[in-house]
Amino acid sequence: MRLPIYLLLVISILLLCSSCQNVSQGNTSQEDRPPNVIVIFMDDMGFGDLSSFGHPTIQTPEIDRIAQEGQKWTNFYTASSVCTPSRGALLTGRYPIRIGLGPTQSNKRVFFPNSLGGLPSSEITIAEMLKEQGYKTGIVGKWHLGHQPEHLPTTQGFDSYYGIPYSNDMDPVGGWKLESFFMKPDHNKWNVPLMQDEEIIERPANQHTITKRYTEKALEFIEENKADPFFLYFPHSMVHTPIFAHKDFVGKSPRGLYGDVMAEIDWSVGQVIGKLEDLNLDKNTLVVFTSDNGPWLVMRETGGSAGLLADGKGTTWEGGMRVPGIFYMPGTVQSGTITDIGSTLDLLPTIASMTGATVPEDRTIDGYDLSDVLKNKSSSPRDHMIYYRNQDVYAVRKGEYKAHYITETCYALDTGREELEEPLLYNLNVDPSEKYNHASDHPDVLSDLATLVAEHKISVKSVPNELNKY
Ligand code: MG
Repeated sequence: MRLPIYLLLVISILLLCSSCQNVSQGNTSQEDRPPNVIVIFMDDMGFGDLSSFGHPTIQTPEIDRIAQEGQKWTNFYTASSVCTPSRGALLTGRYPIRIGLGPTQSNKRVFFPNSLGGLPSSEITIAEMLKEQGYKTGIVGKWHLGHQPEHLPTTQGFDSYYGIPYSNDMDPVGGWKLESFFMKPDHNKWNVPLMQDEEIIERPANQHTITKRYTEKALEFIEENKADPFFLYFPHSMVHTPIFAHKDFVGKSPRGLYGDVMAEIDWSVGQVIGKLEDLNLDKNTLVVFTSDNGPWLVMRETGGSAGLLADGKGTTWEGGMRVPGIFYMPGTVQSGTITDIGSTLDLLPTIASMTGATVPEDRTIDGYDLSDVLKNKSSSPRDHMIYYRNQDVYAVRKGEYKAHYITETCYALDTGREELEEPLLYNLNVDPSEKYNHASDHPDVLSDLATLVAEHKISVKSVPNELNKY
């Protein structure tokens, strides 16, 4: 039986309207919902290890693209020059000394496989803050904030976890030997576990394929949570030595294996951005790319580069704590190079501002809300940075000037701690390599910096030390 023409017309209009409604509902929910957040956090990648930050032979076109189209911060700092305190500070917006992660012993600056401590459960992480807003939360990669069951990521606001619980050089088979880092990479030499939520699923973790597998998990997480606001914390375990690249990348870079590993990381960043574009989520997702501390210089060619900055990981010279900072969100983050000061401490308040979440009000938050810089390229609300090594303030920066009160060089080639009788003073805008001391020319600046440090110290309360629990 043939339907009358008017009935066909009515059915067609109804079908058309219903599909219009679906499209319009889809768009509305996409635009109305708060933005997703992805934090890609490198391990031991130095200020000079990206092509967009001046490396002459490492090629990172995908990362360079988001730096070019987003904001590239050139005075961006971590709150510590080693892994554990740096990660705690990023997730809580608080200096490590406030959260039990300010070390008291030079050989216990991070958690080791026999550690019992962790980020205290009383601390509020970005994941916990966003869960209050209904976000889906996941971590893929290296945790390093306590691996006892009560300290795993799933106790700190993350719905899911896939990754290694501490550094990729820990639990070395036959003991820790510097030479083993310079030999042909063999993941069996490091008995590092790979975990899914609370379970160990592989040991030793095959680190040759770890970046690839992290990337697959990250893409899965995005796909599975595309219908809801999500927070993905993506801390890679590379380029912390021992370094490993998938065979598809080995031998590709003139920089050697380190360049190959960076090429694979760059591919991974491209995959994440591509996934967001495919799902039409790129304009509603804030992507942050940075590093936990500077390059591990004692690892020679298998470690990274701080470029023109002095020294590296473990120190309070610029190379230890100044890292590339990149923010990307097309249509929201105004592109450009930002030379004002920013820090990983600022991510919590910035993310709160951009998602409508509430910054914890019952505690000192050391971070500043950078969202107005991201959206309007206004001046950064952060004008200073305090450089801790362990429990001590070694240095402070305010504006262009940085004073050092205590100096100490790189981690394992320790030349000794020196408490200076007279502080050193460098103008970091003019002299980013900290070569020319101008302390005697600016007693007023030194006095101002000393006041800032004294006021900060008054605000620090003593808390139980988590790094000494064994
Ligand atoms: Mg590190």
